[in-house]
Amino acid sequence: MSQDSTKSTASPNTQRPAQSPLAGIKHIVAIGSGKGGVGKSTTAVNLAVALAKKGYKVGLLDADIYGPSVPKILGTKEAPTQKPGEKVRPPEAHGIKCMSMALLGSDTPIIWRGPMASKAVTQFFSDVEWGTLDYLLLDLPPGTGDIQITISQAVKLSGAVIVMTPQGLATQIAKRGLQMFQQVRVPVLGIIENMADFLCPHCGQSSHIFSSGGGDQISRDLHIPLLGSIPLDGKLVDESDSGTPVLISRPDSELAKKYLSLAENLVQEIEKQEKGLNQEGPPQIVHLDPNPKGKVLKITWNNSKQSLITFRDLRFLCPCASCVDEGTGQRKIKKDDVDPNVGPLRIETVGNYAIRVQWSDGHDTGIYSYDYLWKQLGL
Ligand code: ADP
Repeated sequence: MSQDSTKSTASPNTQRPAQSPLAGIKHIVAIGSGKGGVGKSTTAVNLAVALAKKGYKVGLLDADIYGPSVPKILGTKEAPTQKPGEKVRPPEAHGIKCMSMALLGSDTPIIWRGPMASKAVTQFFSDVEWGTLDYLLLDLPPGTGDIQITISQAVKLSGAVIVMTPQGLATQIAKRGLQMFQQVRVPVLGIIENMADFLCPHCGQSSHIFSSGGGDQISRDLHIPLLGSIPLDGKLVDESDSGTPVLISRPDSELAKKYLSLAENLVQEIEKQEKGLNQEGPPQIVHLDPNPKGKVLKITWNNSKQSLITFRDLRFLCPCASCVDEGTGQRKIKKDDVDPNVGPLRIETVGNYAIRVQWSDGHDTGIYSYDYLWKQLGL
């Protein structure tokens, strides 16, 4: 799997290792939703256009492998190009670099099995020449499936945004989406409430089609900012179908202003998140320093604490299913089973929340979460 990883070092959350194919991207932000049809892709495209209008360099990756719709809404059919021996160059529309399964040349629906879909998504990171970007937005598939997990392991996300509609059930489902990101330590930057109300084009009166205040309620319950509310707007459907985003077709409309304000709020939340990252919150590893001579690994945490662990102890503490019984939690290996000279061949970061070690004894299945290491080291 292509990893946003680095040999034997872990970087602060906000930086990508220089040798990563994503090194030129400042922020990768996932746009998710608990279920389909809430307007996630429409929101992702209009948010991308709003960021581009504000002068940022923006990319948009349609990670919805099963139902790609971003190119249609953005208004591009242009296929990516590739010179021999080079990476794939994504086409641009309205100044936004875009990549999607829908641009790869077949109208025939592809029946993806989980692992194939996950591989396709990681190739969008490893094999595409994204170049220098301020923001790469990812339009995720709805729900909390394999692709979301793959992405949260393959790249360091600056955060995730959840799009939801205000109905009661939709808010329950959106909550599940939020919890998934929290589990893999991806900061949830905020909620966007879509189709929040309906502005009558004739009388100008606003009315709530669904129940009102769902986004506000979740925001208060879970202490997550509400980045904005987008009304139900009949013209938006035609604009999406014809590939002319509202910021292009009606740049002075109230709706265009709402998307610009969403973009503004998102940028601010990312900045806040970055500032807070190294001071507060759950433990994060910011640097790893393996010392092969002393056979120890020095770990530096975001709160400036440092800890030392021998390679042998770290190998012994491997949390994978072949080393620990998943049912009982009992360790299956004994310390004596571990080669005293074992050492890491490679240590890579896994998303925002863990490290994975490839050991000299051939073992490489353990994902050591930051929380797990923090507890094991008695910090
Ligand atoms: P998702 O990505 O969540 O499946 P889409 O973005 O494809 O949802 O939107 C589903 C449908 O809802 C599309 O026809 C889209 O044009 C329409 N839609 C999305 N947001 C709005 C809105 N604010 N007002 C009116 N129609 C909308």
